[in-house]
Amino acid sequence: MRRVANCNAKFFPSKTRLVLLFFAVSAFFCFQYSSYGASYSILYSQDKLLRDKHVTNYSKFRAVIDGYDRIFRKAPNSYKGALAGIRMLDLYRYLARSNHSGFIQDRIRKAAYEIINSSKNDRARAYAYFAMYQFYKKHNLSIYVSWKEKLLKEYPDSWEAKLILKTDRHSINNKTITLPLVGKIIVVDPGHGGKDPGASGVFGIKEKNLVLKIAKILARRLQAEGATVLMTRNTDRFITLQKRAEFANRHHADAFISIHANASPNRMLSGIETFFLTTKADRKTVLIASRENGITPAQMNVLQKILVELVQNAKIDKSRVLAKNIQDDIVKRLGVKTKNLGVRQAPFYVLAGTKIPSVLIEVGFITNRKEAMRLESKNYRNRLIKGIVDGIENFFEKRQ
Ligand SMILES: [Zn+2]
Repeated sequence: MRRVANCNAKFFPSKTRLVLLFFAVSAFFCFQYSSYGASYSILYSQDKLLRDKHVTNYSKFRAVIDGYDRIFRKAPNSYKGALAGIRMLDLYRYLARSNHSGFIQDRIRKAAYEIINSSKNDRARAYAYFAMYQFYKKHNLSIYVSWKEKLLKEYPDSWEAKLILKTDRHSINNKTITLPLVGKIIVVDPGHGGKDPGASGVFGIKEKNLVLKIAKILARRLQAEGATVLMTRNTDRFITLQKRAEFANRHHADAFISIHANASPNRMLSGIETFFLTTKADRKTVLIASRENGITPAQMNVLQKILVELVQNAKIDKSRVLAKNIQDDIVKRLGVKTKNLGVRQAPFYVLAGTKIPSVLIEVGFITNRKEAMRLESKNYRNRLIKGIVDGIENFFEKRQ
């Protein structure tokens, strides 16, 4: 073979060789393009063939699913990528009809969420909302209402929206769709609980009880604005920080709001502050973070290393905006009497695990007599909660 090649080189003058090279390169790209282009239609025909034969075995579809997934991941915003995403999700839904294993059922949710998270294509997103709606409805989880509202609000002209309106007519109320937090899933997380009382303040105030009281009312207020609210706990029980974050991720929430109260040996200290996540702790935040993380300041070093790996940077910017909105609106509602400690960053474990905009509000120092007294007043708490709701609303309004 080599001799032939050498011989060719001798035969063709360099100009011809250049032209040949050009053809070879363009042929290569043509092949690349057509194989990328063709693979979707090949996958689609395989998919269709299997479905026509009523095959319902997941392993038989494995190659098709992998192919769709590859095309989707390559370009989730492109027409073809979005189409592959839709087909993949549709395939899971098809398989789930006869296969009731948790694995296949959960694939629907994962595929839909993958689209919602990474594709800007309206077609694919509307279908993913629809899949979520049907998934939760089938499993009798009231959160389906939230997905329905998301779909109706964002894609009112899609066939999915029209289908829902047709089949679900009696439960549609146009008035509710205009509420500011319709379609939003918000996790409210009252800190501590059970064997972990959190900080202890004056008048025997325990952080875990105070924050639960605030969180419960906050949940009701957010619901009144149209949000679907999920609480990590609504009784006095212990939950690990990891489980709280997992809970938010599992339900694909839009925001995570953790409620805490501050404490300090210096009883003069007072004020409200809202935190979002950083992986680094300065001296000022290391004490408060170690307390909220339930570890000693000395252990913070180890934790920070873990956090660096856990954290998804994309959400930090959004969390910062959310924190700023909430802090500003709390201060507006509470007036000048309350000390504004501002928006700060700290390495909180509970914020690191979530994949969504997440903040931790320290509603005040229960070790300060004046502030503790205020926090015990219903009127003050209501204003504080209104501020938090305002902040969340402003955050979502600006993002749309
Ligand atoms: Zn706390």
